[in-house]
Amino acid sequence: MRPILITSFLVTALSVAHPAFAAKPEAKPEAKPETPIAIAIHGGAGTIEKSRFTPEQEKAYRQALKLAVEQGYKVLEQGGESLDAITAAIKVLENSPFFNAGKGAVYTYEGAHELDASIMDGRDRRAGAVAGVKHVKNPIELARAVMDKSVHVMLSGEGAEEFAMREGMPFVDNAYFDTPHRYEAWQKARKKLDRAEQGTKDYQAKHEQLPLQFKMGTVGAVALDKNGNLAAGTSTGGMTAKRFGRIGDSPIIGAGTFADNDSCAVSATGHGEYFIRYHVAADICARVQYQDKSVVQAGQEVIFGPMFEAGGTGGVIILDAQGNISMPFNTKGMYRASKSNTQPTYVGIFKATD
Ligand code: ASP
Repeated sequence: MRPILITSFLVTALSVAHPAFAAKPEAKPEAKPETPIAIAIHGGAGTIEKSRFTPEQEKAYRQALKLAVEQGYKVLEQGGESLDAITAAIKVLENSPFFNAGKGAVYTYEGAHELDASIMDGRDRRAGAVAGVKHVKNPIELARAVMDKSVHVMLSGEGAEEFAMREGMPFVDNAYFDTPHRYEAWQKARKKLDRAEQGTKDYQAKHEQLPLQFKMGTVGAVALDKNGNLAAGTSTGGMTAKRFGRIGDSPIIGAGTFADNDSCAVSATGHGEYFIRYHVAADICARVQYQDKSVVQAGQEVIFGPMFEAGGTGGVIILDAQGNISMPFNTKGMYRASKSNTQPTYVGIFKATD
């Protein structure tokens, strides 16, 4: 008995005296790095300056952006898919009169609303898009249905609406999309165009000269879910006083929207003609994938590169499969917001950090 007692006394004494002899603390379970989930949204880029807003207006825009990004994030947080997260966020923006998509869409030259939207799944590059629809309440849902339930990628006009009808989508009168501020913008744009056209009869050339605020506004979202899947979507009313069935970049996969798990997800907003010609969304993701560029670098290169030098203005939201977000724009401002598992809700409107 004696030697045992002495030994145990010695162990106790040494444990107190020297930590190396201390009884091992219970091993803590290795902290697993959290799987990234993230979402970013935009509500259009353009001549958005602080001086143009009353404090109440600014607050209302910020609230709408916050609501949209948080609705989308909630889907991700509950384990939902990135496609569902972006659809939820975009629907909030489409239903808000503040943004040029769904309710609040701009007017065509003739005084109606023609809506475009697209969506892409980064898992397998499935995609759906609609152009020139006039009565579908939430065009992003129709784009989703084209992707999920048709054998095509892009449907337009009456055909797209016939498909929407078969799918039982909510329909509205075209006047549902009306808002007083877009009506006023349409009136101004028409006056400018009609006056200018009397001189040259060249609508296209005159449209080029319309101030930028008539050519911008769109909504979009990109998201990453817990399974590492990226998705992107974009929805717009297009350009004020657009004519002849004009379609911009928003419903064009690779221009206004792109998603691939191997690179990134992008939704664009800006002067659509340039975004089509410079294939903006796909170009950014190609730089990420093939040149190993970060989303920040790839975004800067494209948004401030040859397209900008050629006169293309606008911005993008970009997200990669690690949850890195970048939201560059070459205009005065861009309505934007983001949230991830490592970053609280961020809402920005003007340049830099505001
Ligand atoms: N890109 C859209 C279009 O050209 C407009 C915008 O994003 O401001 O239709």
